Amino acid sequence: MRQRLFICVVVMAITMFSACSSTSQGVRPAPLGKSSSSSALQATINEPGPLVVEKLLAATWVVDRAGLINLDHARAREAGLTAGDEAIEIYFYRVSHPQFGTYIIDSGVAESFADPASNADVSWLIRQAMNTSDLKLQLSIADWLDDSRIQLDGVFLTHLHMDHIMGLTDVPSGVAVYAGPGETSVRSLQNAFTQGTTDRLLKNVDNLLEWQFSADPDGEFAGVIDIFGDGSLWAIHVPGHTPGSTAFVARTSTGAQLITGDASHTAWGWEHGVEPGEFSVDQARSARSLAALKVLTAANPGMAVHPGHQSLQTGSAIASAPAR
Ligand SMILES: [Zn+2]
Repeated sequence: MRQRLFICVVVMAITMFSACSSTSQGVRPAPLGKSSSSSALQATINEPGPLVVEKLLAATWVVDRAGLINLDHARAREAGLTAGDEAIEIYFYRVSHPQFGTYIIDSGVAESFADPASNADVSWLIRQAMNTSDLKLQLSIADWLDDSRIQLDGVFLTHLHMDHIMGLTDVPSGVAVYAGPGETSVRSLQNAFTQGTTDRLLKNVDNLLEWQFSADPDGEFAGVIDIFGDGSLWAIHVPGHTPGSTAFVARTSTGAQLITGDASHTAWGWEHGVEPGEFSVDQARSARSLAALKVLTAANPGMAVHPGHQSLQTGSAIASAPAR
């Protein structure tokens, strides 16, 4: 009897926990992007570029600082940072190229999150765990697409966490969605609870395309891709927060813009070089990726920097209205 109970518990545990990738969504290699190097990026980064980049505020939110910043880091202790509520924002970025079309980096927030409590895509458990009651929608992707009459050519995700895929249900089905390597296949206990929600948020996505990074010959980053092949938009592999975390550098007529994704969530974390906290799968790797991005910005002080969920005081204005 005891043995049967033991087997039953083991089978339940295996069923619940062992086969849990982040989503059951399949992936294909991205057809876009050419493997490159950090020295090739550096060679063009200060040249004016052809892209138009617009930063848009999708929602405000409040989450635990312990997830956003490694509070055990010496500089966080020194500053007296403690766990507790931290006000954050969810952004998406329009990136328009004169020949290759209009894309967004990250997916913003869908109209269905106007009342997060009644959003059927998100399970009750996730709503509690992620404090969605404090999520306040500012601009949905549906409204933005309607108002701007933009035809999207693709979505470049910084990673596959819920707060970066919450707008995908408003993105027309068939639009190509790109993500870093290992985002869908990463296995963790947590995925047993989040996979259903992630699958529902990805229900319109029939083309999840994975960047084909190869090692950066200069050894600065885990990988660098020249997305359009003309040096205008770069994907940089910055693993740690998640395996496939990706930052982007976009060259505009007024200078380069670095979109870090959650390689750094907060303004404080970026300014003090302290990596994200408990929300990351590999904090040590995340610290190395953040350090490499800091080296890139130190070498290029004219580049505007956009951390994942807060804006720096300078060089990171949010567009006040959708582009027309
Ligand atoms: Zn995030």
